[in-house]
This record gives sequence, C-alpha cells and structure tokens, in this order.
Amino acid sequence: MSETREQLEFDVLFVGGGPANLAGAIYLMNMAQQAGKEIEVCLIEKAESIGSHSLSGAILDPVALKELLPDYLDKGCPIEQPECRDEFYYLTSTGKFSVPYTPGYMHNSGCHIISLSKFSLWLGEIAEELGVMVFPGFAGTEVLYGEDDKQIVGVRTGDKGIDKDGNQRPNFEPGVDLISKVTVFGEGPKGSLIREVGKKLGIFEGKMPQVFETAIKEVIELPESNSFHASSTTVVHSFGYPLGLHTKGGGFLYKMKDNRVALGFVLGLEYEDPLLEPYQAFLSFKKHSLIADIIQGGKVLQQGAKTLPAGGFYTMPRLAVDGAVIVGDSASMLNIQRLKGVHTAMKSGMLAAETIMAALEKEDFSSETLGLYSQKIADSWINQELYAARNFSQALSKKGITKFISIGAQYLSGGRGFSDPMPIEADCGTFTKLQNSTAAPGASPDTQDLDGKLYLDKLTGLYLSGTTHEENQPCHLIIPDQELCMTECYEKYRSPCTRFCPAQVYEMEEDADGSKRLKLNPSNCLHCKTCEIKDPFNNIIWTCPEGGGGPKYSIV
Ligand code: SF4
Repeated sequence: MSETREQLEFDVLFVGGGPANLAGAIYLMNMAQQAGKEIEVCLIEKAESIGSHSLSGAILDPVALKELLPDYLDKGCPIEQPECRDEFYYLTSTGKFSVPYTPGYMHNSGCHIISLSKFSLWLGEIAEELGVMVFPGFAGTEVLYGEDDKQIVGVRTGDKGIDKDGNQRPNFEPGVDLISKVTVFGEGPKGSLIREVGKKLGIFEGKMPQVFETAIKEVIELPESNSFHASSTTVVHSFGYPLGLHTKGGGFLYKMKDNRVALGFVLGLEYEDPLLEPYQAFLSFKKHSLIADIIQGGKVLQQGAKTLPAGGFYTMPRLAVDGAVIVGDSASMLNIQRLKGVHTAMKSGMLAAETIMAALEKEDFSSETLGLYSQKIADSWINQELYAARNFSQALSKKGITKFISIGAQYLSGGRGFSDPMPIEADCGTFTKLQNSTAAPGASPDTQDLDGKLYLDKLTGLYLSGTTHEENQPCHLIIPDQELCMTECYEKYRSPCTRFCPAQVYEMEEDADGSKRLKLNPSNCLHCKTCEIKDPFNNIIWTCPEGGGGPKYSIV
C-alpha cells in the first residue's frame, strides 16, 4: 500500500510468540549476556498480547523448562497442578472401561498441568526483562528476501487501517520491514509465512504431508459442592465414544487451580465423513456420563480451538535455509505419542538459539552454518522422542482392532511396527463422497440440549473466546473459486466448511430461487487453520488479518 515503509534492523527476529520462540529468545539473551555480547533481538506476535492465541492441553514435561530456567518455581511460573495422576478410559455411548495398562510414554509422572496462555505470558515477561523487544499486535504478512531472492532477510508486518475494499482508513499505518540477520519462524501449526517459504524454497519437498488434529477446549469453573475437588485424579484421557474406533481422536480433562477444569476434545483431521462436525463431537463427549458427572453444576469460563501438528518425524520440513530457521509446531515437532509438544517446542527454540549465537560469532548466516541447528535437533532428545513415535500417527489412523495391533507392534519394535515408514495421506484428501457417509457421530444439534452456561452453542462459545477483529478490513480468508463451493463441493460433500469450522465462519445461504451462496463471517475466526487444512479442494487460503485481532485467551 505505502511505498515509504519504515525499516528496523535487528540481529535476530522471532516471528510468533509461542513457547518455542519465547524459550529461544530467553536462551539467546542469556547466552549473549554470559558472553558479554550485546545483541538486538525482536519478537513479534499477531495476537493482541503474548499468550492470547496460545491454547493447548496442556500437560508440560518440564525437561526443557528446567534447562532454560532452573529456578522456574521461584520465578513464579504459573502452574495449575504440580503433579499428574492419570486415568485412561475407553468410552462406549453409555459406559466406560478403565484401561488397565498404558505404555510408559503415556504416563505423566513429573509433569505439570498448565494454562498455555498464562505460561506464554509469563515467558514473554521474562524475555522482555532480558531485553527482547516484544511487539504483540504485529502480524508478519510477507517474508523478505535478499537480492539473490533466496536469502531470508526479515519479515514485513501487515498494514493496519485498510478497509474492506482495499482503501486506507483514517487510522492507516503502513507495515514495517523488520530486517534481521536471522529470522526464526515459530508461527505455530500451519503457519502462513512458512507456507509461502515452502512454495519458494521447497522446504517440504521429499517429506510426507503435514497432518493435523483440531482441538476444542474449554475451561470450566466447578461449584464448591462438586466432589471432583476432593479427588486425587488430575488427568483423565479417553478414546472411543463418540468417534468409535474408526476415527482418530479422544478427549481429556485436567484439574486446574481455583475449582476449575480444562476440558478438551481432539479430532484427527484425516476423518472421512464429511458430515462429521468436530464441535458436535466435542459436545457429545462432554455429555458422556464420565465427563458430565465430573463437571455438573459448572460454568464455562473460556472456550477456544486450535490445530496441532500430528505427523511428527517424517513430516518435519528442512529446518534451516539461508537466513532463517524453523522451530516448534511450525516444524511439526509435537510428539503425538505423548500428546505433548510444549517441551519439544521449547527445546527446539533453545537449540536454534545456540546455532544463532555461533552464526553471530562467525557473521555467517548461510544455510550451511544455520544447518547446524538440524544437526543439533538430530543429536537431541527431541529426535529420540520423535523417532520412536515416527509411525504412531499413522497407526492411530488405522481402523478398529488393526489400530491396536499396529500400535502394539510399534511398541515392541521401537517404533518400527510392520512397515517403516508407514504412509501418510494429506488431511484434505480423505473425505468420502456423501453417499458413502455414515451418520455423523454426535452430529444432531437438536438433540443436544444446550443451556448457555455449561453446554454452549458455537456462537456462545465463540463469545467466550473473546474473539474480535476490525470489521472493516479485507477478508483474510481467500477462496479462489467461489463457484466450486456451490457446485462440486456442495454436491459431493454438502459444504463441510460449515461443519468443520468451530466458529461458524462459513454459512451456506439459500436464495428464494433455491440458488446457494457462501456467506463468510471472518470476524468470528479463531485462527485455528482447520479450514485451510481440511478443505477438500484446497480452495481456502488463510492469511493473517490485521494485527491484534483474533481470540483473547487468558486461562485456556
Ligand atoms: Fe478456524 Fe478457518 Fe474457522 Fe478461522 S475460519 S475458525 S481458521 S476453521
């Protein structure tokens, strides 16, 4: 829009304010201080404040945190429960069966229950105290390249104050070019800048397709009279109902401080039934007696949704290019076998920081020098964890009893199983045509009696996410072929975007003459990225809206 853009120069630019980048920034500043070196480090985050877009289970294995901040308890780390005591259930529609044996990787002894939004905010404050320039409310919208069109030299932040027709509003502020010697991409799952880097520099070539799960989560306040407070159980995991054994996913409930619980449901996005609605499956899980008994009398305080990378080892992109490295969920480093990714994300940021420190010493930011980061990952416990789980997501995708045989074989063979690598199919390609669709689990909204307090419809849940966007801005959801939505997509799949989006962003309207029209409510967007991942025609492109927009998570 404006040709006169301000340029700001830094030694290191972290793009994204999640645990990977925050840990990386803190570690880098500590190393620089110990070496007596002054460096200029900037971190930008598209959310209004650090932590407002952070949502996760979250059970934290503190292995990386102990290394980063050994005195984290004295520093006031916000921990909801210091210890985990697990229960694991298989659910039928009317019953529950306690699973008598779970493999060691599922045990959470020594882990803490946290709120990721609170935890990220706390890390952000520490980073700022150490001198990192933290700029929330600034979305990176374009990757900047050097003269060779290959070396990444920074990121352009989005213009603010553009109206929906592309004209400048009175409060127009052009984006800023943030120039850096090294850029660290920690955008979270399915980052929009990493997507463009992938197209230009081929970082995903030769890798299996990245695959994801969508999680819907609530924090619920329980009344004093609720007996769960007295229970020693802090963690409940389940599988089975309402998905059965043919569709990947499950639920969790974690005890938090202040009479609260975190309740969540995760659905693998390779699901096949286009009529399945993740939000309805979440409600069905919530109404199962195992959960309903625990949360009775409660009130939802906050709700949100996010995707998580499920592919792991074989889907990790090339981690270093000229001028940049990729960390955390952006690099698919979540360990799906342990249902954890905060510890691997933090460690990846710290290993990136070590590499960057050496690159700053050498004044060499080539992919060869920054490639040391890939080697450090390969030599670390991140690699050991992810390699052991290299076929786990694929095994979970198997149907029925084959799932357990496959998981068992991997357990006995160090992750190899019956074949290695097991193939992965991209999430966008797995829908079956409508005539093959079975009844969608839990997908009958009229049978779900919602009370607006404990059981919420999508829009009430959305309200409790605090989501706001500037209304008068260009739509951040690009649909290259709108006609396709009304024809082939409707005919084959009955517009699955109207169901898989957890925030009712997509609605199919019908005119008096019977013609259909796709209506978008982009201001509802929770930034979960499910639509870009699951759309069967790759006909939705998620771009960053004006910085500061989106959810305002504070306790999830
Ligand atoms: Fe998620 Fe897409 Fe819906 Fe936004 S529009 S909430 S990114 S599915």
